[in-house]
Amino acid sequence: MLQPVSSFNRIGEENAFAVLARATTLMQEGLDVINLGIGQPDFPTPEHIVEAAIKALKDGHHGYTPATGILPLREAVAKDLNDRYNTTVHPDRVMIMPGGKVTMYAAIILFGEPGVEILYPDPGFPIYRSMIEFTGAKPVPVPIKEENNFAFSAEETLSLINDKTRLLIINSPANPCGGVTPKEEIDKLIKGLENFPNVAILSDEIYDRIIYDNEKHISLLAYPAYPEIQDRLILLNGWSKTYAMTGWRMGYSVWPEVLYDKVRKLAVNCWSCVNATSQYAALAALQGPQDAVDKMVKAFDRRRKKVTEKLNAIDTVSCIAPKGAFYAFPNIQKTGWKAKQLATDLLEKKGVALISGPDFGLYGEGYIRISYANSLENIERAIIRIEEFLND
Ligand code: PLP
Repeated sequence: MLQPVSSFNRIGEENAFAVLARATTLMQEGLDVINLGIGQPDFPTPEHIVEAAIKALKDGHHGYTPATGILPLREAVAKDLNDRYNTTVHPDRVMIMPGGKVTMYAAIILFGEPGVEILYPDPGFPIYRSMIEFTGAKPVPVPIKEENNFAFSAEETLSLINDKTRLLIINSPANPCGGVTPKEEIDKLIKGLENFPNVAILSDEIYDRIIYDNEKHISLLAYPAYPEIQDRLILLNGWSKTYAMTGWRMGYSVWPEVLYDKVRKLAVNCWSCVNATSQYAALAALQGPQDAVDKMVKAFDRRRKKVTEKLNAIDTVSCIAPKGAFYAFPNIQKTGWKAKQLATDLLEKKGVALISGPDFGLYGEGYIRISYANSLENIERAIIRIEEFLND
């Protein structure tokens, strides 16, 4: 009998992939499925990025690169962050990763073990909790509430920290709720964290460029007055969402000096380096024109407004306007449905793929997540189907 280690019994999943697989099967069987489930831009990667990848292949970039990533790319990441956030990130602290998720993995296994606590947002990206449980650490949810516009509450977050807390995960703009934590709240959090010098912070800022209403993203990197916090901050970001590059598997992170070499060794042990071609494509993304990003965000903005308006027109549904990312998180409590059953029936009976709130944590009951990375027309068609189903 094979006996894998017991930690694998605790590893979870991302239900968005299961919904995608089921939606694909139903489509193959002839059902007209509208997919508002998966969290990826429905735009192609901009042409100049694709061209840069082809050129990299033709130029012979076929071998291993340094485990930390090619220097020009690390320099470009540092420059991009410094230009946008007026910070002083050094390329030697930038690690190129095979996707955004891998930074989560690295940060959580660096701090998680039995006896320690890790704070994470709930509802939140499901992999946080899954990886925390995998390490044997205790996952401590930080409730993300609608009454708070789905932003973090600094006070509540700080109140959950104790002697066992080793890592705090925050995410803004956020998946699945579309919340953006306002500057005042982040200021308070940063100030409060000064009292907990042993707590590392993982700030997942993968949606930093997808933000609306002329709001400016507040990065945790942009607090030079708190150098001590910068020494325990891990910043997660990447190309997947900003440049419509989910399949290229390109992410990056900024690490405190004391952790950098540990992550480099993890890379050497696990993935050696990130795909060389993708690294050149990512370089072109950062150095080339940014108009494709602006266009995409404008399109998401139009869809965001449509989704909010149409959902609010359904009697039993209410939806606050998301402030970032490309997800709406409507409240379905008045429908009388449990979220998971509703999501299943909408897919099976109406061909609308979306994700139930509880797939993002216990506090997600009473909500569903709609990814509006789909055409305006499909969004309208899907919401008509949802309304028909609820009125049936
Ligand atoms: N962080 C958040 C909050 C996400 O929503 C996602 C993807 O959906 C990721 C990280 C992972 O991104 P990647 O596809 O680059 O691994």
